[in-house]
Amino acid sequence: MASRPLSWLLSHCIHLELKMSRTIYFSNITLALTLLASCGLKLDKKNDKQDDIRPETSSPSSDIRWLAAEDPNCMTSGTSTRITSATIYQWDGLQTSPKAVQIPGATVDDKEFATQNILASAINYSQNYKCTINEAGERKCVNATKDNTSYKWLRICRSNATYARDSLEAMTLTAMYFTESAYRFYNSIAGNMSGISKSLLISQPKITREIIKTNGEVKNRVDSDNAAFAELPASGNSPSYGLFMIYPTTQGWFTRNKNNLWEIPFVMNHEFGHHVFSHYIKESAESTGLTIKARNGLDSIMPNRDNELKQRMSLTTDTAQLALDGVNEAFADLYAYFAGNSARDQLKGIECLAISRDPASAVTRAGQQKGLDQSRIDIYEGRRSSTSANNDCYEPSYDDEHDIAVALGQPLARFIETMAPQAQGKDRARYLLVWASRMQTLLNQGRSNVTVDTLVRELILGAKSFGNSSLACRELMPRISGLSASVAACNQ
Ligand SMILES: [Zn+2]
Repeated sequence: MASRPLSWLLSHCIHLELKMSRTIYFSNITLALTLLASCGLKLDKKNDKQDDIRPETSSPSSDIRWLAAEDPNCMTSGTSTRITSATIYQWDGLQTSPKAVQIPGATVDDKEFATQNILASAINYSQNYKCTINEAGERKCVNATKDNTSYKWLRICRSNATYARDSLEAMTLTAMYFTESAYRFYNSIAGNMSGISKSLLISQPKITREIIKTNGEVKNRVDSDNAAFAELPASGNSPSYGLFMIYPTTQGWFTRNKNNLWEIPFVMNHEFGHHVFSHYIKESAESTGLTIKARNGLDSIMPNRDNELKQRMSLTTDTAQLALDGVNEAFADLYAYFAGNSARDQLKGIECLAISRDPASAVTRAGQQKGLDQSRIDIYEGRRSSTSANNDCYEPSYDDEHDIAVALGQPLARFIETMAPQAQGKDRARYLLVWASRMQTLLNQGRSNVTVDTLVRELILGAKSFGNSSLACRELMPRISGLSASVAACNQ
């Protein structure tokens, strides 16, 4: 197949004139994972204003449901079978059920299993950080292990690819399938920008942090109950990669929610939404000194749930960076929502995400109307302190970028739906791509006029090229009263 990942990779390293394709393939991905480590290191050195994973635990991995491979021999010495169908596990709001699916274009590169977008899936990846927190609440971490050799690439030796839900194979196949679906959705959107990076997936990485506080107290934590995306930059002969991470589930989460995050299509669609945002925006953002947010090396889907850290690390005053981070989250939620064809309750039954992060719901879980008024935008941009009870899973505090997704997801989804009634998800997602392309242009003009307001304005101006926006604007304007340039664009 002409579009095989391996040949695609090879086309980027052809001038190495190495005959051993296997070596090239490996060196690229090994380099990518090395970059991941350095990416995490670099970002952890920044002030880590938020900590998005989970409250600190007293001992590492005590509560984690680590999954094992069902075919361990296949994983170490087998050769993957070329499959086109598999059993995945999907959450429907009430329960997770097995589902037989087609995986068109799945291939085997030498021994590893790959899909059209995901070149390989790593398992057994581990990384260990040592961190300190100073009086100002700044966290600095260094990667103590720098171990990039522990991982393996997923292999599938069963022709029917049916594995128990609690296996590493089922976890990975499920996440690969949903990520691949998000990729196919992108390809179905008219006018999409070509050249979106191929991806890698990491299943249940063991990322541990030993955190030493100023009073000498030591806490250990393991990243869990989350999913994340980062873009690994191109380097040398290695092209850029999208990197998707699915963290392990804790027993506590599993008992309360009865699901794993990778079983929820919206979650992988959200992460792919970041991939799309990054594809359009990254270069322009970086040329103006802004970065596509990656906390602890990675963006993630869950809001901050670590109140202790959050209170001490609250407000950054870099308005342009905050704007990009918040709009990135809203964009990812909208991408996921339209990929799910605007269905209601795509996040049903999932703590912290249901209702509040559902772009179909006009209110937060606490019943507050979504939208950005002056007070909320002042909190987000650091001119005012949050007065909320600081439980983002109930009512957003509006000082985290995921709160911008809560505030803007529904009003902007409604705006696009009113512009494009009776349309399919891919036709609504066109508005997002036109928006992304306009944001790219805005960023190219410099960071001085980048705010949540000016970024949202670009969606409205872009939508006007699709038709009469007066009805959609009439509904939207009261919901974005804190965004004066956007309101003005509606009134134009
Ligand atoms: Zn996100």
